[in-house]
Amino acid sequence: MTNPAHAPALVELKAVNKHYSALHVLKDINLEVAKGEVLVVIGPSGSGKSTLCRTINRLETIDTGSITIEGKELPAEGKELARLRADVGMVFQSFNLFAHKTILENVTLGPIKVKGMAKADADKLALSLLERVGVGHQAAKLPAQLSGGQQQRVAIARALAMKPKVMLFDEPTSALDPEMINEVLDVMVELAKDGMTMVVVTHEMGFARKAADRVIFMADGQIVEEATPENFFTNPQTDRAKDFLSKIL
Ligand code: ADP
Ligand code: MG
Repeated sequence: MTNPAHAPALVELKAVNKHYSALHVLKDINLEVAKGEVLVVIGPSGSGKSTLCRTINRLETIDTGSITIEGKELPAEGKELARLRADVGMVFQSFNLFAHKTILENVTLGPIKVKGMAKADADKLALSLLERVGVGHQAAKLPAQLSGGQQQRVAIARALAMKPKVMLFDEPTSALDPEMINEVLDVMVELAKDGMTMVVVTHEMGFARKAADRVIFMADGQIVEEATPENFFTNPQTDRAKDFLSKIL
């Protein structure tokens, strides 16, 4: 899925480097994600996948290089950052819902606070998104009253409520009991089918095969392999990827 020469990629990283003290955690990352593309990021623990997601969302700063969304760089801080960050939805391994707010309030908070949406409009939007992810009837409950799979679907609805241009998923199913994994992946597959641009860190091969346009394999802070899901899983090129796949498959 390479981008046509003149349109800017929806997300573009150019020569991105990041250190945590002496640890060089992202090494000269160049990456483009086209509008509507679903990119799966795979790689061993500690290879920099979460850091990559967090830098795209400016939850982490970078040392050198640039990250742009539709050709625009995210400012480092301030009001403008909050507004532009709304373009990048993020779903984490731990759902991070506000424990003392209802499911509905969890979803309406961002649109009301960041986008200045009227409460009635935010409620309507939130309910339609909660319906879409299959938890509309849970709107008045608190997060703890829902299963992990349901909470993660709420987290997806919450991110969607900001009408993001791209959604980042960082191992969204790895904290879930096995029987709940598919209900979350199914929602993600539907999102992909609807044309959402997605960057998904996951080792769920079924999801990658069903929804991914492209897979990148990271190791030691570098992108060491890039392929279609079919090619990556059946015919990995590097020893690192072969070794990794032999452990997870
Ligand atoms: P992955 O998501 O692929 O498991 P991470 O991006 O979480 O990898 O981490 C990459 C490396 O950076 C690891 O060695 C990790 O220990 C280190 N690291 C991650 N976050 C921090 C941090 N806030 N401070 C220092 N080191 C960190
Ligand atoms: Mg991680």
